[in-house]
Amino acid sequence: MTPPQVPSPAELAALRRRYRLERERRVRPDGARQYRSTDAEFGYYAADPYVDEVTEREPLRDTVDVAVIGGGFGGILTGARMRQQGLERVRIIEKGGDFGGTWYWNRYPGIHCDIESHVYLPMLDETGYVPEWKYAPGEEIRRHAVRIARKFRLYSDALFSTSVTSLTWDEESGTWIVATDRGDAFRATYVVTATGTLSEPKLPGIPGIEDFEGHTFHTSRWDYAYTGGGPDGGMTGLSRKRVGIVGTGATGVQVIPMLAEDAGHVYVFQRTPSTVDVRANCRTTAGDVGADHDGWARERRENHLRIVSGETVEQDLVADRWTMSAGLLEKLLTSFRRQGDRQDFEAAYEAADAAKMNELRARVERTVIDPDTAERLKPWYRYACKRPTFSDRYYPAFNRPDVTLVDTADTHGIERVTPQGVVVGDTTYELDCLIFATGFSVGTSGIHSGTLPVHGRGGAQLLRVWAQQGPRTLHGFTSNGFPNLIRLGTLHNAVGVNFTHILDEQAVHAAVLVAAAEAKGALIEPSRAAEDAWLATLAEDAPDHEWFHAECTPGYYNREGRGRPNGAPAYPHSAVAFHELLKHWRENSMDEILSASSGPGIEL
Ligand code: NDP
Repeated sequence: MTPPQVPSPAELAALRRRYRLERERRVRPDGARQYRSTDAEFGYYAADPYVDEVTEREPLRDTVDVAVIGGGFGGILTGARMRQQGLERVRIIEKGGDFGGTWYWNRYPGIHCDIESHVYLPMLDETGYVPEWKYAPGEEIRRHAVRIARKFRLYSDALFSTSVTSLTWDEESGTWIVATDRGDAFRATYVVTATGTLSEPKLPGIPGIEDFEGHTFHTSRWDYAYTGGGPDGGMTGLSRKRVGIVGTGATGVQVIPMLAEDAGHVYVFQRTPSTVDVRANCRTTAGDVGADHDGWARERRENHLRIVSGETVEQDLVADRWTMSAGLLEKLLTSFRRQGDRQDFEAAYEAADAAKMNELRARVERTVIDPDTAERLKPWYRYACKRPTFSDRYYPAFNRPDVTLVDTADTHGIERVTPQGVVVGDTTYELDCLIFATGFSVGTSGIHSGTLPVHGRGGAQLLRVWAQQGPRTLHGFTSNGFPNLIRLGTLHNAVGVNFTHILDEQAVHAAVLVAAAEAKGALIEPSRAAEDAWLATLAEDAPDHEWFHAECTPGYYNREGRGRPNGAPAYPHSAVAFHELLKHWRENSMDEILSASSGPGIEL
């Protein structure tokens, strides 16, 4: 591969201007309010297509050791790590009809994980499984989730098609009362929440969606009953259909080539083009990935985390476009700091970024035959302003006569849906089927949603306390006033590209905490002083990437253009450093949050 050309100062100035214009063209005053959630009359878009009929069961009133909310990788790993610590009664409560989380819901055609499967799939060492592809199809990942759940006997106590509706701490018994939408009110000594960060599908908040007379669905609830076929294609139901797809993010990039193969005609409604880098998926053998000794997967995963966290390692085991672009991804991370002289650093950074983006734009030009279509597919922003995507089939799809790219940037996206189709500018595109690849609400699931109230000591409600005082935690996991409640997720915790790795470290931490509390007969609850110390650590060395997000085109990474990183504040150093910090704390200081008795309640 020839190294990308370093752009001249004049070229860099022109790029800066172009990026600013492209951003200004796209920023909307309504920001994240432009979307609507898939509840109430739009609940159809979030219904479970994989469960025909929910089996009736009696409401539960029993007591378990650990209740885990969420049956995705976070919940499954928590269950598995709890089992390894000897916990017996572990109950996972899951909204879907089976385990898998994201991989349960998302089964759209073409679905793959774009992180290397040998580092993305957790517990490969423990299950003895070696993925067959460098980038695994979604179904293989879903089956692996089920494999872990079976191995650790997580089905025995699991509740599917069930949503937790409230958590209430009962001081007298020292247990949580877990209420659900199936009438359950059981007790749990410990509760772990693992409800994901991108799990609620969202739709554009434009008029007319409800009036569309054709067929419509969200990519995370793919309707194979209508399209026919499966994740590998063969959608014979679409062969004579005019299909519109809204959205060209990581999902759209995977789906569109599959629709192009099977549909009568595809209209791709694009607002901001993604960066689409080389995929080069291939079959792999155990030999290729060094799966010949115990711990091989842990080593590979750690190697990957170090590289994408900006550390220097002897060898890049994964060696793909994520790891090769690690230097440019760093600015997404909380560990990002300018180094050395500010001007020199920024100049070098900008040049490297421009070289990478020029390479990606050249890829469009090389592949897409029609110059106007090619121009519209080019991304004009810095690398990783939007989530990088990877495909070798995406751009060639636009050379087909039965695929039309509709650029909606000037109208801030599709403007209206009519009974017949989609309106952009002066044109109505008549459609038989309209598919929304419009993504997910960020960080609004579970206890952060407001639909799952958590009442701690003295009836204090978690979100209300946080609304007054800001989120208060120790390491993101635990909070004063909410004993034996452990949260997984990114709040005050680590962030990283390979989120299953982060989740597994969190699951290990939760299980060790619970095992220690059991051994001591203690409650898990940090003091306010411990929370204060943690908040001070988070504030101490805030990351240096606001400038980057402020210049990006809008998207969920920067709160739709509001110019600051999305989501809750995270640990300000790398995930590698966070994992080391946790390990050291468990070995030396864990006793500080294991209290023998009830605490004083929350000071408001
Ligand atoms: P995204 O939020 O990334 O993309 C939504 C798309 O919808 C964007 O292209 C957006 O345009 C477009 N859009 C929204 N509203 C409108 C509108 N009114 N008119 C036209 N277009 C509109 O969702 P995805 O489902 O693609 O991806 C979400 C996340 O899921 C990814 O970032 C990734 O974290 C994860 N994912 C991971 C995969 C993997 O392989 N690991 C695969 C797929 C998803 P605009 O950009 O202008 O806002």
